[in-house]
Amino acid sequence: MKGELLMYTVEICHLYPELLNLYGDKGNVIALKKRCEWRDINVIVHNVSLGDEFIPDKYDIVFIGSGQSYEHEIIRDDLLTNKGPAVKDAIESNKVFLAISGGFQLLGKYCKTVDDRELEFLGALDLWTISSQERMIGNIILECGFLKNENFDGKIVGFENHSGKTYLGNGVKPLGKVVNGYGNNGEDGNEGAVYKNVYCSYLHGSLLPKNPALTDYLLETALNNKYRDFGPLPRLDDSLEIAASKSMINRIIKK
Ligand code: GLN
Repeated sequence: MKGELLMYTVEICHLYPELLNLYGDKGNVIALKKRCEWRDINVIVHNVSLGDEFIPDKYDIVFIGSGQSYEHEIIRDDLLTNKGPAVKDAIESNKVFLAISGGFQLLGKYCKTVDDRELEFLGALDLWTISSQERMIGNIILECGFLKNENFDGKIVGFENHSGKTYLGNGVKPLGKVVNGYGNNGEDGNEGAVYKNVYCSYLHGSLLPKNPALTDYLLETALNNKYRDFGPLPRLDDSLEIAASKSMINRIIKK
């Protein structure tokens, strides 16, 4: 594999990196970057924050992590007004996005606060969040049908910690079905959201380092979007990650 993929470059946009980084969400960007570097694929990370222009043509993957309501308030106006139209265009033209927890909520239509105020969010995806008094916290397993193949059973592991309950509307599918844990709202068995090439999840932990199959799925989608001749990603030795995931799944299910 050495050197064969040097002509390819993945450009990652990390939105609000210093403000939205709950429970190590930045690990997702590190995982995307490392898995490119291990294959000799070039990778560039653009940190894009308050007041910066969001230029979709420059990016192959856009990542948005999570904050608490305090950080969401700080970035809300910039996201909705300054970057909003370009972010929505990028989503509609099939750009790959990964949004975690608060980032997931922010791409939706609104969030109802515990004191019953409706905070407008970006509205790029038909989903909404209702704040609750209940904290949905713990390790979680979900099953992602689109990741299942002869090498992988589709089981994703992570850690969730949210009190917002998110509900999916028209045209938005869940990322996976909850095997163990709460998921979007603790009610409908859904976890996360998928719309076009936008992948959303409540899983911190971070999500991608624990789940290389999902990381590679995002990278492969982005590379196939960009390069007509790009074939399947060469496989890496994921035996350590797979062993860690299996051990976590056994621990959660035995509880
Ligand atoms: N504050 C939001 C919630 O609890 C999102 C961030 C988080 O704590 N995961 O729903």
